[in-house]
Amino acid sequence: METIWIKNPLAIYTGNTQDAQGGIVVKGNQIIELIAQHQTPSHTIDYVVDASQHVITPGLINAHHHFYQTLTRAYPDALNKELFHWLTSLYPVWANLDEEMMSVATELALVELMLSGCTTASDHHYLLPNGLEHAIDLQVETAQQLGVRAIFTRGSMSLGEDEGGLPPRHTIQTEQAIVDDSQRLIRQYHQHHEGAMTQIALAPCSPFSVTTDLMKETARIASQENVMMHTHLCETLDEEDFCVERFGLRPVDYLEDVGWLNDRTWLAHGIHFNSEEIGRLGKAGVGVSHCPTSNMMLASGICKNNELEAAGVKVGLGVDGSASNDGSNMIAEVRMAMYLQRLRYGSANVSHFDALRWATKGSAQAMGRSDIGELAIGKQADIAMFKLDDIRFSGSHDPLAALLLCGAQQADRVMVAGHWRVLNGEVIGVDIRQLIERHKRAASRLAKKALGE
Ligand SMILES: [Zn+2]
Repeated sequence: METIWIKNPLAIYTGNTQDAQGGIVVKGNQIIELIAQHQTPSHTIDYVVDASQHVITPGLINAHHHFYQTLTRAYPDALNKELFHWLTSLYPVWANLDEEMMSVATELALVELMLSGCTTASDHHYLLPNGLEHAIDLQVETAQQLGVRAIFTRGSMSLGEDEGGLPPRHTIQTEQAIVDDSQRLIRQYHQHHEGAMTQIALAPCSPFSVTTDLMKETARIASQENVMMHTHLCETLDEEDFCVERFGLRPVDYLEDVGWLNDRTWLAHGIHFNSEEIGRLGKAGVGVSHCPTSNMMLASGICKNNELEAAGVKVGLGVDGSASNDGSNMIAEVRMAMYLQRLRYGSANVSHFDALRWATKGSAQAMGRSDIGELAIGKQADIAMFKLDDIRFSGSHDPLAALLLCGAQQADRVMVAGHWRVLNGEVIGVDIRQLIERHKRAASRLAKKALGE
């Protein structure tokens, strides 16, 4: 096992108060030492990486995404619509997904994320119709090949259009099939140990796509198998109306009713909570993944990050699906989070440190992980390194602030569990031109199938 000193960074954000201006020492998959300014390591070093041109952060952690949606970016029928109409325009297209499309979409999204400094990505996949029952198995295989840490959330939809749901009938599954497959995936892939590279969480798509019974059964299985739970909640006001109409309850009351108001749960979006609900979510230890670009694109609203954090909610960051972003760039998303939250709270109350915290420790905690999200002794060696040599940074002074203010787009180096996965701005082992060609072909095949061609 080699011992690596990532030496004397231009700037470093550790996520804690320890001085690491002299750099980080990594051995195996862990960080074993932080070096204070002008100090040298106490360990014997095998090789040194000169970081004098790099801004270092913990590997960024994406807490919400739908990888398959990279195939329907800027889709004509879905432009300029809000969530429900956007969804009903895209479901018939997505219903034509096949295994090859799923694999290449997952690979492209993960590569795009890694290039932007992401070391842990969660994906929420809920389309598993006949012929695509193994979508998540394919995703696990792809992430393992790339060497990226991943949390696959087994999505589900059991309430079709004919029962008052949004998805077309042939895209949904029976509840028994969902339950059986959830248990199979957990047993086959979920790693409970510290440093886990592959995890499974259970994730009904939203309260308007599954039944009450399935929500309750999901909570029961998650507790029995000791895994996390995830769903979309309070993304739009339409959804709140739907919940009140169908269940006679506001979304947070419904969550409590079905056994989800606890620290196993992290929610995507979480925009439309009142202050009483925020207090309850905080007390319960629920997590929320803020998804700023998607929220702006679909005009869903602005999440109350500061109030949520003050109440004890674990606030993380996600890029959301690539049909409502329409990118998968984590460092760009951190900037969006900072700016969108400033619109709500003012510039003095939202700093680049806040936004970086959401994208690192916040996302980790929201997804039940304490071994990632921070540069500290004993934590996993998940590290993002950015160079400020692009034209956009010229003339900048504070390197860490410049990372967000000048709008960094790409990491120069990324380490996951002690292994370099990105070097010189390229994912090792991936021919990006060829990947883009394969992905473009899959996207056009999907659009043609949707048109019945
Ligand atoms: Zn989503």
